[in-house]
Amino acid sequence: MSMDFKIENVLSMNGGQTDSSYARNSCYQEISLRILQPYLEESIGQMKMVPCGRFCIADLGCAAGPNTLHVAQIICRAVQKKYKALGIGMPDLQVFFSDLPCNDFNLLFQSLPLSVPPDGRLQACHYFAAGVAGSFHNRLFPRSSLHFIHSSFSLHWLSRVPPEVENQMSSSWNGDRVYISKEGRVEVAEAYLRQFQEDLKSFLRARAEEVVEGGWMFLFFSGRAGACPRQQGGSGAVGDILELAFKDMVCEGVIERATRDSFNLPFFSPSALEVRELVEEDGSFLVKKMEFLSMDTEMKIQSDVDFGRMVAKQFRAILEVLIASYFGEHVVESLFQRFAERASQNASVLYNSLRQGGGILAIIERACTP
Ligand code: SAH
Repeated sequence: MSMDFKIENVLSMNGGQTDSSYARNSCYQEISLRILQPYLEESIGQMKMVPCGRFCIADLGCAAGPNTLHVAQIICRAVQKKYKALGIGMPDLQVFFSDLPCNDFNLLFQSLPLSVPPDGRLQACHYFAAGVAGSFHNRLFPRSSLHFIHSSFSLHWLSRVPPEVENQMSSSWNGDRVYISKEGRVEVAEAYLRQFQEDLKSFLRARAEEVVEGGWMFLFFSGRAGACPRQQGGSGAVGDILELAFKDMVCEGVIERATRDSFNLPFFSPSALEVRELVEEDGSFLVKKMEFLSMDTEMKIQSDVDFGRMVAKQFRAILEVLIASYFGEHVVESLFQRFAERASQNASVLYNSLRQGGGILAIIERACTP
């Protein structure tokens, strides 16, 4: 990707409520949330709550869709339950929904349960909502202003594709591939890992300023079970299919070879150990839980063709905007058609990789400064 192509300026999940929107194509994330809910409630139950006028929560990389509101509700209910159990005064709850500026905040705001009855009395589980646009690799909130941070399916997004991967002179050049591949160069995976490390460091540095002492972060993002960074699990398998689809488009002359060669996907699935090392090295947060959590979910599939179409639709909702801003909107329809075909031809490999997928659950507490 050329240097003037900044991911944070263009990235967003497909907005709106259409058939190709993220809101309608995030059932995997929805199922995962069901698995994560008990961990989320347990974490809040374990926090040391203190009396305060307002309890501030942030959801980083919130997108817009059913999960966004559901998560906020789960967190608010758990916080209220905890305060009630402690018998200390109930604070007002404030939820900051945060994502990159291109996110469909309009859809999000329109779906919020914002109404306060005329008598001014807040209903159970009412929260004050606000949107915050910006990258979580930078500061987003005032110093010591947040008590709880949630982030799901977002932290695997990198701030940029590691530049070495797109440099023909480098041993990390990824050539005609568009992502880390099991068959690709190990240097490519190592370059991605270094970028992830740099980004997570910036993330932790910014959050260390923003989270109050004793505040918690609940982070879940795409990750891998094994040690080798070349084995990217589900995202690796999707990258392989996308690579085939791009190859078809290049062969047909729809996309130029050089343009394709300069494109790579900006995400990375780390191992729990890689994340733990970064958190410990940073030192601002204590690890409460750090593990690879399998999301082994059975998918109902009629046929390979159906499966191909389904996966294409899901990943189109995630990747369309990014791909359109790099290659132009005219490529999107045929690219994802090729993707669906290639996915159905490789259905069993892709199915197994996606099914065995999971992510890193990192629950960490802001350490107290001595
Ligand atoms: N949390 C939601 C949405 C996940 S989609 C869910 O679980 O369903 C991932 C989101 O992360 C996208 O909305 C994307 O815009 C956002 N994201 C990616 N990189 C980001 C960054 N640097 N800063 C803020 N948000 C980012």
